[in-house]
Amino acid sequence: MQAALRLVEAADVLVVGAGLAGLHTATLLAQRGHEVLLVERRPSLTGAIRTTGIFVRRTLDDFPLPPECLGPPIRRVVLYPPGLRRPVTLVSARDEYRVGDMGPLYAAAADAATDAGVRIALGTRYAGRRDRTYLLTGRDGPTRVRARFVVGADGARSRVARDLDLDRNHHLLIGAEEVFEIPRSEEPPTFHCVLDPSLAPGYLAWVVNDGRHAHVGTAGYADRFPDGLRRALERFGTSAPGLPSTPRPDEVERRGGPIPVGGLLRRISCADGLLVGDAAGAVSPLTAGGLDPCLRLSDFAATILHDSLRSGRTDALTHFDGAALRARFRGRLMLRRGLAQVRTPALAAAAFTLLRTPMGQAAARRILFGDRSFPAPGRG
Ligand SMILES: Cc1cc2nc3c(=O)[nH]c(=O)nc-3n(C[C@H](O)[C@H](O)[C@H](O)COP(=O)(O)OP(=O)(O)OC[C@H]3O[C@@H](n4cnc5c(N)ncnc54)[C@H](O)[C@@H]3O)c2cc1C
Repeated sequence: MQAALRLVEAADVLVVGAGLAGLHTATLLAQRGHEVLLVERRPSLTGAIRTTGIFVRRTLDDFPLPPECLGPPIRRVVLYPPGLRRPVTLVSARDEYRVGDMGPLYAAAADAATDAGVRIALGTRYAGRRDRTYLLTGRDGPTRVRARFVVGADGARSRVARDLDLDRNHHLLIGAEEVFEIPRSEEPPTFHCVLDPSLAPGYLAWVVNDGRHAHVGTAGYADRFPDGLRRALERFGTSAPGLPSTPRPDEVERRGGPIPVGGLLRRISCADGLLVGDAAGAVSPLTAGGLDPCLRLSDFAATILHDSLRSGRTDALTHFDGAALRARFRGRLMLRRGLAQVRTPALAAAAFTLLRTPMGQAAARRILFGDRSFPAPGRG
């Protein structure tokens, strides 16, 4: 998989970042006959994973993810108020979620990219640009790459966005979780969500127990964790619902990172390139889910780049217009603003009384089990 880089390289497209967005965009472009170099600063795709990896039904329907890399289907969600008393349980008639085994899933995506002809350079950091020449640094020293286009798939704090003078994410949550194996049990796979601003200010604390692994996590606004995110996660870990009574195994994987929740950015393309995934702010402001949006926006990006490379018309990239797509996030952005205002456990408990009404539960079902996905053109 690993490409050895020369001092000076050339490619049609340089993709920066081998998360799901970068891997998917690179594969689609190579499948259409373009020369693609994909660089990733991490030395291995199976280490330093950020995401819980919950895939929603729409993604599972529309994208062929390897089934052996997916956990059992989840239909049950339990919502808890502060204090965890009188939770609300919602059960769907359909399989709503599956948790990806993210290490093997990234490895499978990288194999698919390599098979399509993508050259992947791990342990290689994008470090800047001059016109259409891009500077990379890696184990073997610096490399320069001349590329017709660059794709910023380099996450929420994108350096490519900065260098292309495109919009950047300012509205971020931070999230962290611990993942460990659990003994098999008769409990149905369940997604437990705790709405308590003292544990997760402005967002959620969660336990996902799919009967194989438990993910115990919390996310919120960085400046509102009085004693830090790590401490909040530890506190949650002592009372987290939905876990087996057996002691935690010694081997615990830690994940985490920033989550952009300000909605899709407006300026996500220019004559020299474009942004996909978290770099473009393609995350649901409400659920903070970014895996479905990153795949759909990458589909659209690959189509636009292919058209431009084939026709030689640089104005093709102007169709990759975040402002036009963003308008469809209005409702979700409003609800996010509402969630951000729930600042005390008392307010969260009051908001929770709404969830106990039929109207509140119908709204929660629409958010958690709805048919909507990221509104990118192409797949709908
Ligand atoms: C704790 C947490 C839990 C989450 N859980 C879920 C979930 O369950 N479901 C869901 O849908 N979404 C979830 N999300 C959001 C989701 O994970 C992201 O939206 C999605 O993974 C974004 O993919 P990406 O490829 O855009 O970015 P990333 O996966 O962040 O990939 C960016 C890559 O770029 C690389 N990179 C950065 N800078 C450089 C550089 N200069 N040179 C080279 N490489 C570089 C990074 O190393 C990284 O590998 C979660 C996020 C967090 C933080």
